[in-house]
Amino acid sequence: MAAGGLHFLVTAGPTREPVDPVRYLSNRSSGRMGFAVAQAALDRGHEVTLVTGPVCLAPPDRARVVRVTTAQEMFDAVADVLRGGGIDVAVFAAAVADYRPVSPASGKIRKSAGRLTLELERTPDILGNARNGFGFRGVLCGFAAETEDLVERAREKRAGKGCDLVVANRVGGPEEVFDAEDNRVTLVFADGERELPRMPKREVAEILVGVCADLVAKSGHERT
Ligand code: C5P
Repeated sequence: MAAGGLHFLVTAGPTREPVDPVRYLSNRSSGRMGFAVAQAALDRGHEVTLVTGPVCLAPPDRARVVRVTTAQEMFDAVADVLRGGGIDVAVFAAAVADYRPVSPASGKIRKSAGRLTLELERTPDILGNARNGFGFRGVLCGFAAETEDLVERAREKRAGKGCDLVVANRVGGPEEVFDAEDNRVTLVFADGERELPRMPKREVAEILVGVCADLVAKSGHERT
């Protein structure tokens, strides 16, 4: 396995999309998987920039941490880091909200007897912009959380977003993944898949960091 000395960018956690000053849309991501990747990379002697949404975890000591709240803020932070250059591996473990309210209310929305309809719009696709938008040429790793057709969709995501690999996790099944200590994933590469047994997220992270460092070594990826 490759020795340390690389610079990893890791995104982690959920994002929060404001509905009004006191409410938001978000998801069940705890940030554990991304934080474990950051820790595993540091333990291997790599440098880490961690862009994280709101989570209840203490960040690893030696990481450079950028805290964000919304998908737009995460997009801007990742754009800054990747355009700044020097990143060898980017691991997008964040569960970015796919939709946000079109126009968050400026005051708290009062309840009334009838239904309330929120109009939502798509958030910017951070991973989808890494290659062409931000010009990233290093090793790119995305995540795919799916309830069905897991590997199939991960393959499509890998090819569509220019990733070297996608970590596919099954969610919503009998084995809890969100906010859990363990994860069961399949690594989807351009030339095939590697299915891992259920194991602690820390171990998944260690394998992933090793795999990404090996890909850097193999491909001779240039720094951006
Ligand atoms: O398409 P989907 O949201 O399932 O893709 C998941 C992958 O894309 C994850 O790696 C996630 O961090 C990333 N993503 C992103 N920006 C978004 C949505 C997802 O970077 N707006």
